[in-house]
Amino acid sequence: MRIGVLTSGGDAPGMNAVIRAVVRAGIQSGDQVFGIYDGYRGLVEGKITEFTRKDVSEILSKGGTILGTARLPEFKYEQVRALAQRQLEKYDIDSLIVIGGDGTYTGALRLHEMGINTIGIPGTIDNDIASTDYTIGFSTALNTACEAIDKLRDTSSSHQRCSIIEVMGRHCGDLALYSGICCGAEYIITSETGLDKDKLLKDLKSNRLAGRKHAIVVISENITDVHQLAKDVEAFSGYECRATVLGYVQRGGTPTPEDRLLAARLGKYSVDLLHEGITGVAVGIRQNELHYTPIEQALIMQNETSEELTKLVQKIS
Ligand code: ADP
Repeated sequence: MRIGVLTSGGDAPGMNAVIRAVVRAGIQSGDQVFGIYDGYRGLVEGKITEFTRKDVSEILSKGGTILGTARLPEFKYEQVRALAQRQLEKYDIDSLIVIGGDGTYTGALRLHEMGINTIGIPGTIDNDIASTDYTIGFSTALNTACEAIDKLRDTSSSHQRCSIIEVMGRHCGDLALYSGICCGAEYIITSETGLDKDKLLKDLKSNRLAGRKHAIVVISENITDVHQLAKDVEAFSGYECRATVLGYVQRGGTPTPEDRLLAARLGKYSVDLLHEGITGVAVGIRQNELHYTPIEQALIMQNETSEELTKLVQKIS
């Protein structure tokens, strides 16, 4: 087979580990593997190179993606995708493995509908792909968020402050939920829980009156202006309050062993599926078992927040 591999959308730690796994598993199976640079943009522009085993050595522990990633909103137009198809024909590439989030999956679905053999691998720090328990990059981002929150707890406890920490996860609160539990946050606010500002302010005030010296609030991005929220908390609750937006540091860094392992498993699995003639699917893990879901279905599945974890927060915060 002649397999193309690309990374698209937001980068995530562990993408390099997937590229490595796809290239090495492909070559081991007698395939030729082509790296496509800069996501769908590079595919359309023909930024395509055949990879050897050596081209992917020394990348396993590196964050980011050696292939680069880019956004190409015009990929929704059929005539733009036709250019991509022409490039694949030019290089005689018969199958495509794309690594990214739900936008990338939508592009993959459109390519599949055009008759191109396509497989999607979940690579995003947000853990917002419902067809897998975990996405590649989530574990590393969680690690980064926890390290930062632990540090903020030290200073917030010394100064008897409330710390509001904004983490990534626009449509999925897992990063906030998991990091909040791991770091003992008093409050966790996500797109799933919503923000009840009055209640938060009242709770913080009564905590303060009850003598609790500091408080940690972990909140997902895009819910509210956290700096304004900090001012409101300070004005109402009696706590001094600071807001910290963790931002893009959560995207970078050396992937954790969990992300590397997931990347290796899903990369090899995707190559195996192509050999079995299974395409138009998104791969993932469920209860630690490899599995695949038609991309179309993966895109409409709803993220479900763990009920057990949500209850856990209520019991131990
Ligand atoms: P992510 O994959 O991380 O969700 P984006 O939403 O930015 O990131 O999507 C990555 C790329 O996928 C886009 O730049 C575009 O090229 C492609 N894509 C997104 N939505 C569509 C769509 N509706 N049709 C075709 N391609 C799309």
